[in-house]
Amino acid sequence: MPFSKLGLSEKIIEGVRAMGYVDPTPIQLRAIPLILSGRDVIGSAQTGTGKTAAFGLPILSKLGQHRPNHSPRFLILEPTRELAAQVETAIRDYARFTDLKVSVVFGGVGYGRQTDELKRGADIVVATPGRLLDHLEQGTVKLDKVEFLVLDEADRMLDMGFLPDVRRIIEKCPRQRHTALFSATIPPQIETLIQWAMQQPETIEIGARRSPAETVKHVIYPVSDTQKTDLLLELLNRVHYDSVIVFCRTKHGADRVASTLRRAHHAVAVLHSNRTQRERQLALQGFRDGKFEVLVATDIAARGLDIADVSHVVNYDVPQHPEDYIHRIGRTGRAAATGDAFTIMVAEDASHVFAIERFISQKIPRVKLENFDYRYTALFEEAKPGAAAGGFPGKVRGGRVHGGYHFAPSGRKR
Ligand code: AMP
Repeated sequence: MPFSKLGLSEKIIEGVRAMGYVDPTPIQLRAIPLILSGRDVIGSAQTGTGKTAAFGLPILSKLGQHRPNHSPRFLILEPTRELAAQVETAIRDYARFTDLKVSVVFGGVGYGRQTDELKRGADIVVATPGRLLDHLEQGTVKLDKVEFLVLDEADRMLDMGFLPDVRRIIEKCPRQRHTALFSATIPPQIETLIQWAMQQPETIEIGARRSPAETVKHVIYPVSDTQKTDLLLELLNRVHYDSVIVFCRTKHGADRVASTLRRAHHAVAVLHSNRTQRERQLALQGFRDGKFEVLVATDIAARGLDIADVSHVVNYDVPQHPEDYIHRIGRTGRAAATGDAFTIMVAEDASHVFAIERFISQKIPRVKLENFDYRYTALFEEAKPGAAAGGFPGKVRGGRVHGGYHFAPSGRKR
């Protein structure tokens, strides 16, 4: 079914055409008619499924034209400033043939431009909760005319402690409104929010909630703690990658890994919340343009960002929460493209790795790099027959590992 048959307005169909989209994605096919018909919608879909257009296109169609001197009619809440900026760009693109005004509101930057824009009157506001509340308190914006509310990445807003702010914001919106909520998982607190904020919502689930993209190949590289960085450097040397995101647990860890990679002459950008907004934008832009081939990031900074065509995701640190594994590798293997997800594992990560494997219902193969000078780690014992720890088949003989391990190809990077 083409976009032109979904009931969208002419101007919005033109916008979609200009974006080069040919066919709607599955979530768009399901969500667009529902939202156009006025239903509240809960969308549970992986990142990269096209959810921004799934809610953006029908709501923009319904908004029609700009209303001068009018408070916002469409409010989108996002957990991070990067996501807010990204969604704002997408909405502007979709609405480019209309005269609708879009404003973005997030912390970490001055109030001036945001205040001016809000005062001039925006039809659509994309915001992070904290800064929006500041503007509400200062009286620069009112939400009493909001007709459409979208809570994007609701589970992440919960993780980041934003739910009380989200509730305060919803309380300022009219009860008579349409609400859509997107969340990869629906924990009990989100369920409660749904009951409170939505009216007879229809749930759209695209793909199994828990399963990572099927086009991604997962591999674990066990190594001793002291060799993590050497292994990462070696992996980057050997793998034929176009663009890589390296995930680290902490901001300091990310900075350290980035400097090591720079010393090894990789073009590296860093994305974490201690960087200024401008630094983060330059990092993202440079990575998208191909100026940087490696992006080192923490989970919060990279969450949900639309970074297309990442050939590899490397977990320098194993994520603490299984859901983060899915979010991280959501950067690769998007749409039809295939991708690789590498996880570097040290002995103390074992329980987290098993939790991830349980979560995705998939055993991830352990792989050793051929001719890498491995120091011993107890993890290698997992490969012994009957070993209790991991129960992986295989055996260790004379220092060379057989059976349980695959050997990664040793070709050099292009
Ligand atoms: P999202 O899940 O909204 O972050 O979208 C992920 C990426 O898919 C973005 O780069 C969108 O521009 C792109 N996209 C969304 N819908 C379509 C579509 N129907 N056809 C092609 N690309 C799309």
